[in-house]
Amino acid sequence: MICNKVLVLNASYEPLNITSWRRAVVLLIKGKAEQLENNKTLIYYHFPLPSVIRLRHYVRVPYKRIPLTRRNILERDCYTCQYCNAQTEKLTLDHVIPRSRGGGDTWENIVTACVKCNIKKGNRTPKEAKMNIINSSKKPYSSLQFEIFKHTKANFNREWHKYIIGI
Ligand SMILES: [Zn+2]
Repeated sequence: MICNKVLVLNASYEPLNITSWRRAVVLLIKGKAEQLENNKTLIYYHFPLPSVIRLRHYVRVPYKRIPLTRRNILERDCYTCQYCNAQTEKLTLDHVIPRSRGGGDTWENIVTACVKCNIKKGNRTPKEAKMNIINSSKKPYSSLQFEIFKHTKANFNREWHKYIIGI
């Protein structure tokens, strides 16, 4: 089964969203979009599987908030402990500034930590615990950026790269 995703660009060439290849094919067949990149797999005779398409007409998009959830924090941190770089099954979320000391539930204050590091850090700040954070935690710029990041990890969807610089 083909489960490839397709990057949709606005008429302005800015990334707009990510869609299923079926939906992308419909847009191409209806003439609502043009194909910019494909991954060379033929799905029909002379019809390669699209990888990047561009809409012919400009679409306005409202800003979408990204929910602050455990899953999204883990995704942002690539399922990696932000203190020791371990990729383990047992990951927790750590408040950089502990809650008891006024640290909030924000993208900036929550990082992925393995159980060992979380216990070691305890109720201290990273400075007090002498533990460095590998990637300074931040809020993803937009939900689209976040989705694109997920789909381009580990060199997936290489054809997308030249269209997503700087987003
Ligand atoms: Zn760790």
